[in-house]
Amino acid sequence: MSELQDLYQEVILDHNKKPRNFGRLEGNGPREGGRVLHADGHNPLCGDRLTLYVDTDGETIRDIRFEGSGCAISKASASLMTEAVKGKPLAESEKLYRGFHELLTGDPSVRGKAGAELGKLAVFEGVREFPVRVKCATLAWHTLQAALAGGEEPATTE
Ligand code: ZN
Repeated sequence: MSELQDLYQEVILDHNKKPRNFGRLEGNGPREGGRVLHADGHNPLCGDRLTLYVDTDGETIRDIRFEGSGCAISKASASLMTEAVKGKPLAESEKLYRGFHELLTGDPSVRGKAGAELGKLAVFEGVREFPVRVKCATLAWHTLQAALAGGEEPATTE
């Protein structure tokens, strides 16, 4: 393993152990002019489950939290995702979603720019070698899409 891969591994383990933005969006509900959207996500292949809460005014993700249980990759990915999109405009979170998907499933030779914008999310690059794990890493992002779409359909990686 290279030093970079070691570092990536460390970030993933750290976020698994101490997930950021973990828990419900508590009682006081959305801030003025917004609403809290939520969606459930399930990755049947691995057994990962999560519920995502998003406080949005329709333009910006003002707050985001998640709860659930799953493997280290799924938990670390949800943790890093919430950090990456919190406070960001919806359009930008959509861009990150596409870039992240590209990182994990796209052609590495044409990836270039999207990868550079992903910041810490790039720690999941190694996951692309393990197709089963790709679903663990993308679950949180699929669930975010489901939440923003209204959350009526639970997200599943199948
Ligand atoms: Zn998993």
